[in-house]
Amino acid sequence: MLKADYLIVGAGLAGMVLAERLSSTGKRCLVVEKRPHIGGNCYDAYDDHGVLIHTYGPHYFRTNAPRIRDYLSAFTEWHQVTYRVQSFSNGKYWSFPINLKTYEQLVGRPSTEAEFVAYLEKNRVPVAEPKNSEEVIVSQVGWELYEKFFKGYTLKQWKRHPKDLDASVCGRIPVRTGADDRYFNDEFQALPKAGYTRMFENMVAASPGLKILFRTDYREVMQEVKWKRMIYTGPIDEFYDCRYGPLPYRSLRFEQEHFTAQQLVGRESVSRKPGHWQPELQVNYPNDNAFTRIVEMKHATGQACTGTSIVREYPADYGPGMEPYYPIPAPDTQALYKQYATLAEAEPNVSFVGRLATYRYYNMDQVVGMALAEFDRIKERYMNEIRSV
Ligand code: FAD
Ligand code: UDP
Repeated sequence: MLKADYLIVGAGLAGMVLAERLSSTGKRCLVVEKRPHIGGNCYDAYDDHGVLIHTYGPHYFRTNAPRIRDYLSAFTEWHQVTYRVQSFSNGKYWSFPINLKTYEQLVGRPSTEAEFVAYLEKNRVPVAEPKNSEEVIVSQVGWELYEKFFKGYTLKQWKRHPKDLDASVCGRIPVRTGADDRYFNDEFQALPKAGYTRMFENMVAASPGLKILFRTDYREVMQEVKWKRMIYTGPIDEFYDCRYGPLPYRSLRFEQEHFTAQQLVGRESVSRKPGHWQPELQVNYPNDNAFTRIVEMKHATGQACTGTSIVREYPADYGPGMEPYYPIPAPDTQALYKQYATLAEAEPNVSFVGRLATYRYYNMDQVVGMALAEFDRIKERYMNEIRSV
């Protein structure tokens, strides 16, 4: 029989933040993770060619919250990055997200912010309160730019029409009338200097009482663990054996390719940077390919290596053997989630935390914020009740 004050399901960001925080108060935590490693989808590793890549898709840390940045800073130093993305459409690389440079490419000459604002005024379709992802984009930029950059990408990624997705999905992407072409607006944009995996390892090292069981589904060990409170960070529908029907998720397939320095000879005409394959960290492919984006992480890590690795990202249906990467934000999925959330609210001894357990399309900083808030709540309400078992 294993004993723990807290049984934590999932060694991703939500699970590890709570494991570290609860361990810091002297509580005994047991983390059970079905994958063979720490970090959940934030996990990064060196590939067979020695290039650091993000195994489960690119993870660009950014935040406006000092509390979240300061908390993680106890476990990592940072490598400042301004994340830049381009979009490849009609055989050409476009400045993205939409900004003055995109407009200049569209009209084929230098322009001014005033002229671009006038174009947007003329083309946008006024919608007082955009209710879906089509409305949120056409109300800002009109049909031409929506169809060029958003419609095809969204259909591929979600297998749903943008009209059938919450406004928050495409509304994540900024539209700017000036020449600022950063992908995000957040004040703090940086990667953990030695990688996410090292950051998680440092959290473990700071938590002496913490035990982690890898390659283990929590359901396999439930009878063998004596615990007082559970932190659950897996999919909420699975927790309830999908009794109201499965929640929908989107999955991904990653295809990796490495280029040696020799194979990159002549590539500078495209990459504009020796030792690189493409012009920016990320290139989106809204229309012409089965993949949605190609990521070349070396642009962001600044790793000193002569070759480079790229990862193509193909959207995929969720099913057996696939990971539930994305909850799907839409009115119908939210209605189904609410049924599960009602059950979860009534659980006396279980906290549901993180992207899958609360079925929210959350970024890393939001998940850290949620986990820290749950720690505060547990500390206030339950901690004195939990005597060591
Ligand atoms: P997860 O990382 O999913 O962790 C949950 C863990 O629980 C997993 O390791 C899983 O294996 C485990 N688990 C599930 N069920 C069980 C079970 N039955 N038994 C045992 N273990 C179980 N955020 C950003 O801020 N910036 C980005 O650029 C960014 N890019 C992203 C790109 C992709 C492709 C994806 C999918 C996400 C991205 N995110 C990004 C979001 C980020 O990954 C999440 O916010 C964060 O990782 C969520 O952490 P979590 O702990 O809630 O979930
Ligand atoms: N999107 C798009 N075209 C793009 C980039 C994004 O249509 O070039 C839409 C698409 O629906 C995507 C969403 O905006 O899923 C959010 O994009 P983001 O880059 O934030 O996706 P994530 O990194 O979360 O996969």
